[in-house]
Amino acid sequence: MNKINNKAISVTVIGAGLAGAEAVYQLIRRQIPVRLIEMRPKVNTGAHTSDQFAELVCSNSVGSNLPDRASGLLKEELRMLGSYFMEVAYKYRVPAGNALAVDRGAFSREITRYLRGHSLVDFINEEAVEIPEDGLVIVATGPLTSPALLKQLQNVLGKKQLEFYDAVAPLLSTDSINMNVAFKADRYAETGKGDYINCPMNKEQYLDFIKALLEAERIDLSEMEISARKKFFSACQPVEIIAESGVDSLRFGPMKPVGLTDPKTGKRPYAAVQLRQDNLLASLYNMVGFQTNLKHAEQQRVFRMIPGLENAEFIRLGQMHRNSYINSPELLGPTLQLRNNSRIMFAGQLCGVEGYTESAATGLVAGFNAARIIQGKEPLVFPPQTMIGCLLNYISFAGHKDFHPMNANFGIFTAEEGTKGDVRKEQIIRQARRCFREFFDQL
Ligand SMILES: Cc1cc2nc3c(=O)[nH]c(=O)nc-3n(C[C@H](O)[C@H](O)[C@H](O)COP(=O)(O)OP(=O)(O)OC[C@H]3O[C@@H](n4cnc5c(N)ncnc54)[C@H](O)[C@@H]3O)c2cc1C
Repeated sequence: MNKINNKAISVTVIGAGLAGAEAVYQLIRRQIPVRLIEMRPKVNTGAHTSDQFAELVCSNSVGSNLPDRASGLLKEELRMLGSYFMEVAYKYRVPAGNALAVDRGAFSREITRYLRGHSLVDFINEEAVEIPEDGLVIVATGPLTSPALLKQLQNVLGKKQLEFYDAVAPLLSTDSINMNVAFKADRYAETGKGDYINCPMNKEQYLDFIKALLEAERIDLSEMEISARKKFFSACQPVEIIAESGVDSLRFGPMKPVGLTDPKTGKRPYAAVQLRQDNLLASLYNMVGFQTNLKHAEQQRVFRMIPGLENAEFIRLGQMHRNSYINSPELLGPTLQLRNNSRIMFAGQLCGVEGYTESAATGLVAGFNAARIIQGKEPLVFPPQTMIGCLLNYISFAGHKDFHPMNANFGIFTAEEGTKGDVRKEQIIRQARRCFREFFDQL
């Protein structure tokens, strides 16, 4: 076993994404040397575009920052635990209303610079094709885990591994948006700063758009992909699939106009496409909720029908992607260790959570628990009443019928019998904060 500063390297982290980077940070901040294996840019995933760690592959938003939202609560816990992901995200924050959005380039560059240059990190730029035979291993290779490693994981885990598909939204240059038509505003003027660019539609424009969207050519999917698509999250469905479910579905979904007033008419538009700032320079905007599987030329044609986007320059078009995850309820305990081989841990999307922040959260837990094991302590189970503990409890709960990755939300908490709506939410938040403080004080 190799050494750094005379200390044996007894932890290997595979994958320098959101989860892997956070896990490495949690180890080195506790003076534990780590081997980090990342395959990019030698081997690519098909969705990542850089050679940087912790790349945000699609949206630059890491979710709500409001304290009364599940994602906000998760961020609160992560910050208290000293999450590196949170620290860097706040450092490179860009305006996005109540969401926490970041300049993705600056965010990833800082994480890469710090971890690659750290004296306790032994960085190996190779594709891992098997699980190392000694020491603790944190597998954090994400939804686009390389096929060779997936095959190996199948051998290690049995035929439990699952797979499905997801979709990403287009990105466009700000200069190409026609601001004589589009307007800046937040829903209900939330921040008063108008962080979003809104492309308003009247009824006729909307109906023409829906017709074109439904008629547009899509990328062919194999039988396997079609059956995998049935497992889509409703939150991440391609727009053309949402449109299939009814003419008004988009108007009540990603194109909802509520809380918006078009300054030119003084009225609420019939529908609206929202664009969110994507980098600090504000030179790029992404189309909120516009994941799609249309052919690239068709995306350009149909999306340029959106008022304000007639001459849009698309920097990146929407695309389908693979999304792999393991059957955690059968395989993992709440400490993120394999039930039948505690030396191997899983973190990130691969372990059954969904989302950037959730992936980083499980990376933090894996790094934190690996550090405890190295220090001769028992790994900790986070209380299920806290947001992090609730997520871990969800993914490791063996009773699921149809398990699929889960993001932070209040629906997975258990609350007092009979409580509903805001009362339930407030009760969950109060209880989560109390339990987290008690847990945190004992660390
Ligand atoms: C295309 C796409 C779009 C997404 N969009 C969003 C979004 O908008 N918002 C959101 O919250 N979540 C999104 N997700 C879901 C998820 O939050 C992200 O994928 C997140 O990056 C997951 O973090 P992770 O650390 O698990 O994986 P990743 O961040 O993908 O990191 C895994 C790392 O492991 C490396 N790797 C893979 N295989 C190997 C190997 N064999 N050897 C060495 N290295 C390997 C990869 O190169 C990568 O760097 C998206 C996912 C995908 C795939």
